[in-house]
Amino acid sequence: MTTDRKPDPALWSPETQLVHGGTLRSQFGETSEALFLTQGFVYASAEQAEARFKNEEPGYQYSRFGNPTVAMFEERMRLLEGAEEARATATGMAAVTASLMSYLRTGDHIVAARAMFGSCRYVVEDLCPRFGIQSTLVDGRDLANWQQAMRPNTKAVFFETPANPTLELVDIAGVAKIAHARGALVFVDNVFATPMLQKPLQHGADVVIYSATKHIDGQGRCLGGVILASKKFVDEHLQTFIRQTGPSLSPFNAWVMLKGLETLSIRVRAQMQSAIVIADHLAGRNKGVARVLYPGRADHPQAAIAAKQMTGGGQVVTFDIEGGKAAAFRFLNALRIVRISNNLGDTKSLITHPTTTTHQRLKPQARAELGISDGMVRLSVGLEAVEDIIADLDHALAQAVM
Ligand SMILES: *Cc1c(COP(=O)(O)O)cnc(C)c1O
Repeated sequence: MTTDRKPDPALWSPETQLVHGGTLRSQFGETSEALFLTQGFVYASAEQAEARFKNEEPGYQYSRFGNPTVAMFEERMRLLEGAEEARATATGMAAVTASLMSYLRTGDHIVAARAMFGSCRYVVEDLCPRFGIQSTLVDGRDLANWQQAMRPNTKAVFFETPANPTLELVDIAGVAKIAHARGALVFVDNVFATPMLQKPLQHGADVVIYSATKHIDGQGRCLGGVILASKKFVDEHLQTFIRQTGPSLSPFNAWVMLKGLETLSIRVRAQMQSAIVIADHLAGRNKGVARVLYPGRADHPQAAIAAKQMTGGGQVVTFDIEGGKAAAFRFLNALRIVRISNNLGDTKSLITHPTTTTHQRLKPQARAELGISDGMVRLSVGLEAVEDIIADLDHALAQAVM
């Protein structure tokens, strides 16, 4: 296998990295990345097997530890993010769990923003304490809350920005400064921003996590995840954990993700352009929509933080339907193009009612704290013509608001 390296892929523009980054070619010189759908690898001799297991000779042994198709995906993500190392996982949640649990141990403390994907809250609130890791949840919007929550044994801070579904933001550089002063590492779930719109490592994050299921596949096919971090973090914590516990990405899914990455930039840009138009349209309506949340709008409560760390507001628009759950359900049920589904980042426009789906597990009090109302819906804007999406939303709003 030869690598297809032009002088320095790290200097390429993101669009070029997305198409060519990390490509390895076999002796056949295939154009499209090869799919090495194999569980393991054969050795030329017993000596070679021994040398591979002793790490004295480079090469693959078993796809739980490494696979050429998965390696291409990892290298493409590594280049795009500007990280020292990347490791792929089977799902976004495997990436969250592996990165935190490979690092934290009994007696440690983690501080996390309470506005988080439901399963991330499970890891912090339920799983960590079961292993003697203390956790504190804070309102992540105010740096004073992070400062107050820090303890001598705080080893990690963890947050998502923009957060699901309210699109509230966390000041990455501000939290990193507080965490680093105490020697804690900063873990950022960057799913909503995508690698195109926010680079947490440049703002002080230590570990960046993606659910590749979302925009990286972008076409609703495969589950996957990625962790980006320093060589030190991977060598000291992550590599052994992944190798020994097995949250590894299937080569088939890695191949789908590689194809997804090729179009990531144009998809995110096109879907974001539509999201901007849709957010403005909804905010301009005088009936049916009580509130629009979009980090790219000047009326977002944290517009200054968006401007500081994001190059665009993303493709998710969250809004409140007047009339609570009943009106929200009438609205969802009247949609004809936008489909009811809890995925996001897909080419198809998808909409979800967080109170009864993704955030159903939370008590009403916890949802109220997060600002998740019974009328709130989260729209992931797809690649359809924006005028068709708007017509669909307007038609359904007319049905919902009686
Ligand atoms: C979807 C999602 C996850 C989990 O990813 P899976 O691939 O579904 O396991 C984690 N964080 C955020 C912000 C997500 O949207």
